[in-house]
Amino acid sequence: MMHSRRFRLLRSLCCCALLAGPGLASDAAAAPAPVSSGSAPAKPVYAEWFTDEAMRVDLFHAGSGSAEDYSLDEVVWEPLWPGTRVHLIDPFGFGTWRFRVVDAASSREIFRQGYATLFDEWQGTAEAQAGVSRSMSESVRFPWPRKPVVVHLDKRQRDGSFRPAFSLGVDPSSHQISRARPFASFRTVELNPGPPPDKALDVLIVPEGYAREDEAKLQRDLRRFARVFLEYEPWKSQQAHIRFRGVESFSLESGVSEPRKGLHRDTILGSSFNTFDSERYLTVVHTKRLRQIASLAPYDALFVMVNSGRYGGGGVYNQWSVFVSDNEYDDYVMLHEFGHHIAGLADEYYDSAISNDEDLMYPPGVEPWEANITAFLGRRRESVKWHGLIRPDTPLPTEEKTAAADLVGAFEGAGYKAKGLFRPQKDCKMFHKGLVGFCAVCSRALQNMVRYHAGQEVQP
Ligand SMILES: [Zn+2]
Repeated sequence: MMHSRRFRLLRSLCCCALLAGPGLASDAAAAPAPVSSGSAPAKPVYAEWFTDEAMRVDLFHAGSGSAEDYSLDEVVWEPLWPGTRVHLIDPFGFGTWRFRVVDAASSREIFRQGYATLFDEWQGTAEAQAGVSRSMSESVRFPWPRKPVVVHLDKRQRDGSFRPAFSLGVDPSSHQISRARPFASFRTVELNPGPPPDKALDVLIVPEGYAREDEAKLQRDLRRFARVFLEYEPWKSQQAHIRFRGVESFSLESGVSEPRKGLHRDTILGSSFNTFDSERYLTVVHTKRLRQIASLAPYDALFVMVNSGRYGGGGVYNQWSVFVSDNEYDDYVMLHEFGHHIAGLADEYYDSAISNDEDLMYPPGVEPWEANITAFLGRRRESVKWHGLIRPDTPLPTEEKTAAADLVGAFEGAGYKAKGLFRPQKDCKMFHKGLVGFCAVCSRALQNMVRYHAGQEVQP
């Protein structure tokens, strides 16, 4: 079971030396559990609570298949908060986790964002189920608070509610907060013109496995993939609100680790194929360095561009997405993985084996939180979360054989399961690789995320 740490970590320390004093601890301990998914009464006003800078909390997420815990690595200052100043409380409710920033004095919630973790996925693997323990690094980032705050991490329960799992008091005036700027010698490049960070979806590409001698290729690849993305719907029509940048960061060796082939490379982010021993799963497990490098430029979303011709990638909601630079399907991987990363979209395919237990990932009888798959519970039309996009004369479930390509319905087979989960259209970029575009439901979710980060109105 999950442990609730609530400041025990910090309470024993002198209150002037680190982050949280005893006063903060007692305020937080009074927080009710579990927390309802309701929202704060009035929208917090950015300038009242936050400065222009950002705070990053680096954490270790550790445990086994049946137990987990978070612990603090360090709190870090970043020079700029690039995100929305309008939607401080996440209106979507996606993710297996969420973090909340609460004013320590008044207990008022002033920031909230959902996220998912690679650790969650690992917990469904045979290794984790056999009792092996391991840790992964994660970070949460929010605007720099003017006053002491408490950061809560809440985990989604089977019934969809959230339960507090970890809390940390942070005094922004503490001298323990790191202001170091590692990797500051790397340059950043602007890849397209656009509005300032708080009015744009800021996308940052961090290269992986490019050695110094690959510099010309790195420059070409940065520009090529920014163009691929900006020319693809649903982003093409929102180009004016999307800003692309890249970092010129180099690895000691070219390429990337492929453990199944006995290849282990010294790359700057330490990313690797064969995550969870899956053939094509390419991820970054220890993300601290990625976050340090990314902090050199404004970003709402992160791409790791891996210098490899092998097929593979990965994407985790509000963490990162990884794609390869030189595979025949590299465009597809980039766009598909970004769907996971920016909008928490689920895989719509069900015909490929994955390393996790599918029933642990999507328990039968539970409506998934992702926008593009549904359990169609009770076989009621209203239980399909995109029912507003379905014509009244479309039968549900919808038969593939007779349906037009653009017909929105509920097609059985999604989320790695042939039965019990449904997808919106016959095909989608979250289903098949190749030329197919995003379905209407995924497109709507992706467009919403551009509007969210650009501070425009959203329709969750
Ligand atoms: Zn879709």
